[in-house]
Amino acid sequence: MPLNIGIIGFQGDVSEHAELLKKAANKLEVEVSVHEVRNRTQLDSVEALIIPGGESTTMFKLLKLYSMYDKIIELAKNGLPVMGTCAGLILISSKTNDERVEGMGLIDTEIERNAYGRQIDSFMDDIDIKGIGKYKAVFIRAPVISKPGKADVLAEYKNKPVMVGQGKVLGLTFHPELTKDTRVHEYFIKMIEGEGSTSSGDL
Ligand code: GLN
Repeated sequence: MPLNIGIIGFQGDVSEHAELLKKAANKLEVEVSVHEVRNRTQLDSVEALIIPGGESTTMFKLLKLYSMYDKIIELAKNGLPVMGTCAGLILISSKTNDERVEGMGLIDTEIERNAYGRQIDSFMDDIDIKGIGKYKAVFIRAPVISKPGKADVLAEYKNKPVMVGQGKVLGLTFHPELTKDTRVHEYFIKMIEGEGSTSSGDL
């Protein structure tokens, strides 16, 4: 049976994540079936979930509206691997600086939205990811991880964490789906398969 991976499909780089996941799975010779998830029932069949970038306030409203917000928390607490990228990280964090987005608390990390300011609200630069190595990261109106808490810091940029992991949950302030580099998605697939959980940290 292929590994069933869901991507929250309201907005953002949904198809890009799907493409890169499929390429990563090919490289690892793992069979995956990737689905866009837009309602609560679709969440029942996924074995891992990606929450993509986009606008976290909007995604927050939609996840609440479709009763998916609490369901994702419940599934993650029961071990569902989750990767949140950019706005997705804001949503899975334990605390945000914006009262319009309540973090799900899937990863013990505090977030500041749009913290890079207007001048450099999008940029690309080299980072070094633990277990992956040198990597060109794309940041788009990225949040800043103000406190990583109990999460493991897997990469930093200018002394600030940009990739964190805790148990089976990964959070990135950048967009791995906007590059041709499949290594972050490979890392996530290995994590799903139980080969690469980042820490034993409880939620
Ligand atoms: N600035 C967006 C937010 O706060 C996140 C940006 C992104 O996902 N690229 O929701």
